[in-house]
Amino acid sequence: MPTAMYAGVEMGGTKCVCILGTGPDDICAHEVLPTGEPATTLAAIAQVLERWQATLGRFAAIGIASFGPLDLHRDSRTYGRIGTTPKALWSGIDLVGFFSERFALPVGFTTDVIGAALAEGRWGAARGLSDYAYITVGTGVGVGMVVAGRPVLGRHHPELGHVRVVRVAGDDWPGSCRFHGACVEGLASGPAIEARSGGSGANLAQDSPIWETVAHALGQLAHILVVSVAPQRILIGGGVISAQAHLFARIRSCLATSLNGYLDSPEVTSGLALYIGPPGLGTRAGPLGALAVALDIDADRAASGSAPGSSLCAKVRRL
Ligand code: ADP
Ligand code: ZN
Repeated sequence: MPTAMYAGVEMGGTKCVCILGTGPDDICAHEVLPTGEPATTLAAIAQVLERWQATLGRFAAIGIASFGPLDLHRDSRTYGRIGTTPKALWSGIDLVGFFSERFALPVGFTTDVIGAALAEGRWGAARGLSDYAYITVGTGVGVGMVVAGRPVLGRHHPELGHVRVVRVAGDDWPGSCRFHGACVEGLASGPAIEARSGGSGANLAQDSPIWETVAHALGQLAHILVVSVAPQRILIGGGVISAQAHLFARIRSCLATSLNGYLDSPEVTSGLALYIGPPGLGTRAGPLGALAVALDIDADRAASGSAPGSSLCAKVRRL
């Protein structure tokens, strides 16, 4: 059990969510800010955290789970920074540097989708599993993979939402990804559905054939996961899927058809309803991911024997 409080900041393309606490059942403050220009946005987040320190007590570490691409390699010269992003003003912004300097605390750092995966592993629908994947289907499509208990991280964090997949027979819509056209993100993200339907996915009838192409792309992505990192479970969250629960049955069916009996493990045969499902933490998976990396960085600090960054505040934790 954690003995100190932690601050988490989920940095999203449109909003930043700040939380303070130790886990899903122990959140003592929560605040949402718009994502604008970097200096203003970061200053506003820092003010929220400083106010919490002044009124609720100090915390032991800060966790940042951000939109990417990010440099997550601790030995890299650009560790902690955002890479080249379509949100041009944010390219090169040093998130870890900013929060470390301002707070003199350990700062955990990961992507929004890896963070959500870690939160699901710690508190949600992947608890007790060593191998699983979290897919988000929202403004983009991202995948956080955990293998042997650790997030998969190669030269850079994987970008499996941009994999090109087999299309529904006869479907030649070009897709909306500006790099790849009909990659999974270009077929299944919220903006892809909007571009294809000419309106919001929220107004698209459940029997629209567009949903079949969305489910098919995500079923193909699940196929790739099953035959590569072989997760014990695949969780799918994000703004599109959380509002369109009918997609789950279609994705499972597409996966079964696509695998075509190749694997006979119970997860992908009789157990598909459990194998592919929603995140246990729902829409809180993202901000709790930031909290999870704060707990992790504090555990690393404790293991390395360095001094704690904060005092306890048990009274506040019971609020
Ligand atoms: P982000 O990806 O920025 O974190 P979300 O996960 O909330 O944000 O996803 C936002 C996307 O979800 C938008 O593209 C939006 O069009 C889409 N969306 C929101 N509500 C619905 C809905 N009811 N049906 C389908 N798509 C939706
Ligand atoms: Zn793409």
